[in-house]
Amino acid sequence: MEIKITKTKVPKEKQTKNLGFGKLFTDHMFMADYNRQKGWYNARIVPFENLTLNPASTVFHYGAEIFEGMKAYRRADGGVQMFRPIENVRRMNNSAERLGLPLMPEEDMLKAILTFVECEKEWVPYGEGESLYIRPFLFGTDEHLGVHSIENALFIIIASPSGSYYAEGINPVKIMIEDQDVRAVRGGTGYAKCGGNYAAATRAGEKAEKLGFTQVLWLDGVERKYIEEVGAMNVMMKINGEIITPMLTGSILPGITRKSIIELLKSKGYRVTERKISIDEIIDALEKGQMEEFWGCGTAAVVSPVGELYYEGKTYVINDNKIGETTQMLYDTLTDLQWGRTADEFGWTVKID
Ligand SMILES: *Cc1c(COP(=O)(O)O)cnc(C)c1O
Repeated sequence: MEIKITKTKVPKEKQTKNLGFGKLFTDHMFMADYNRQKGWYNARIVPFENLTLNPASTVFHYGAEIFEGMKAYRRADGGVQMFRPIENVRRMNNSAERLGLPLMPEEDMLKAILTFVECEKEWVPYGEGESLYIRPFLFGTDEHLGVHSIENALFIIIASPSGSYYAEGINPVKIMIEDQDVRAVRGGTGYAKCGGNYAAATRAGEKAEKLGFTQVLWLDGVERKYIEEVGAMNVMMKINGEIITPMLTGSILPGITRKSIIELLKSKGYRVTERKISIDEIIDALEKGQMEEFWGCGTAAVVSPVGELYYEGKTYVINDNKIGETTQMLYDTLTDLQWGRTADEFGWTVKID
């Protein structure tokens, strides 16, 4: 894939304070068009600008949209690197396959991401915990209202310099266990990173926020019996010394942070069990004081300790509302690797610069 680069003539000033998350954007974006006859064509990096789309485009009516989320990190030596980008590429294609969107050859998508980040590398911020958040997304652009398989699509990558998730320190979050709405069902799109899953989750998220919780913990869509994940994070816990996490059943998003933590823990000799975990088992462990740690994991927060769980009118406190030993160790180990403060014995990092 050839990528034509057109640089902006009016570079923006780079804000260095109060970056926030996903609010500021770099100077350029990557775009590639797809047509079923032509395949992928016109791969280009162009100045960041608004899109012009026909109002009948598939994405607006039938929700054919998928995305990825990854970061470029400023290393201790001043260079720039990414963390397991090939995993995002593979997951993007798995999501595309589920939503009937076109797949892009792995080497082309990886080249698009790495070339784009190289182009925007000066935008990778230097502050503690800061990073350049990379957002590839893909959607259907057929210009008719009939429901058909997708013939035209657009692949875009944008990037946003983002602040530290933990600007005020790692404070454990309060999570509400949602027993009404469900996010996904087996056979549905739960394992795909698609906008529609987030649309289905919005109402419960708003309810949780109104009640003073950060996010919801989802139960399975069939029996509302087994826990799945929270918001945009997978979950893990330590009960009686055993580290467990819900197994991937098809309705859970296969997180790259989740996968990395499992591999990391195993390499350090910990036992990690992936299995179904019922809400009854969790409540039982909480009541018996056996729930030692509970945390969420995802690219944005890396790990996020959970200090309180709310279920059916009761609040349960975990580890005195403090970050646990395993959670802290995982946070330190992963962030040291991602920001290049320790040697990468796993071969997970990809240097851009
Ligand atoms: C992206 C995402 C995650 C976390 O995945 P990572 O690859 O670790 O960032 C978890 N759950 C949902 C629903 C997500 O969209």
